[in-house]
Amino acid sequence: MASLYLHIPFCEHKCIYCDFYSVAPVESETGHRSLEGRFLSALKMEIELRAEDQRFHEPYETIFFGGGTPSLLHPSEIEKILNLLASRFAIQTNAEITLETNPGTVDKEKLRAFRSAGINRISMGIQSFHDEDLKFLTRIHTASEAKQCVRDCTAAGFENVSFDLIFSLPHQTLAKWKSNLEQAMELQPEHISCYSLIIEPETPLFHMIQLNEVTPIDSERDADLYEFTIDFLTSHGYEQYEVSNFAKLAASGKPNFKCRHNLNYWNHSHYLGFGPSAHSFWKNERWWNISDLTPYIKQLDERTLPLAGGEHLTETQFMEEAIFLGLRSEGIDLEQFRRRFSRNLSTENAFIISELIQQGSARMDSGRLRLTAKGYVLCDEICQTFH
Ligand code: SF4
Repeated sequence: MASLYLHIPFCEHKCIYCDFYSVAPVESETGHRSLEGRFLSALKMEIELRAEDQRFHEPYETIFFGGGTPSLLHPSEIEKILNLLASRFAIQTNAEITLETNPGTVDKEKLRAFRSAGINRISMGIQSFHDEDLKFLTRIHTASEAKQCVRDCTAAGFENVSFDLIFSLPHQTLAKWKSNLEQAMELQPEHISCYSLIIEPETPLFHMIQLNEVTPIDSERDADLYEFTIDFLTSHGYEQYEVSNFAKLAASGKPNFKCRHNLNYWNHSHYLGFGPSAHSFWKNERWWNISDLTPYIKQLDERTLPLAGGEHLTETQFMEEAIFLGLRSEGIDLEQFRRRFSRNLSTENAFIISELIQQGSARMDSGRLRLTAKGYVLCDEICQTFH
């Protein structure tokens, strides 16, 4: 099954740690509207051009509006994009359709309109339930606005709400991070993503660190906070199914809340990305769009796909990615791996695998080699030991 991704490159304000492509602030209301209108026309053109290629006509089971802040768009625009996608591609009737949303950009009424437009999953950027953290991260919302936003999602009819939290902020204590997780539990989201604060090159945060205005947390404390996160969430009814992702365990017979879109990425399923900076992957080709709105719009005005680059994955690259992505998420099916790559990982890496199992870092689960909570903490190191 395949996936569709749409990158909406607008934010009200650029957060100090973020290196995703988005533009902000927009100087004037008129300027913003016209830029948004031109972007939407370009996006629709990109969808039309891609849909002309018969290769891409297979069933799609997820659509993800990411960014940027897609919730800044009017719900009628989201609806028009969804209608266009449905008219050009085979979208499954039970498709997971996610909208990334930031508190401070939506209210109950707007959320209801997104729900009616066809969105059935919200992924909310909350990051912290402490106002001083939000201020440090230069988020546009407060903790109480974030909580209200989660409640508004439920009131608007969303039954699948995820939110993102960030740990390892400078000077963050275990007690403060624990309080974040406890406040998250009061809201009972179906899914939580917890990310360690990454210092991305050339972001304002990176420069603050260079100037010694901010001291990043050390790696030992980072590992402690991460281990605590895993223990806390798994003992509160969440299943860890990827390094940073936790889904609420479903009652028997109910669908689980793992993000199907991200699982498709990690399983090497096909996906098409639209919008500036969006990536696509098909068979063994990967390509990506220009990360700049002006040439993106210009090229599509001329009916040209706005490509910035691409690569052909060799069998070795494919295999290395399969190991890395499998270990990061739901494990490697060893038999499937043998059939796909004609390589027997279990005999070739027998010593490493048995060591990992003995140390409690991995386990075998119905033919799948999976990392345990302890293994997820050491995931990068473990991936490098496989050959
Ligand atoms: S709202 Fe999200 S995408 Fe926009 S700048 Fe902040 S972190 Fe980046």
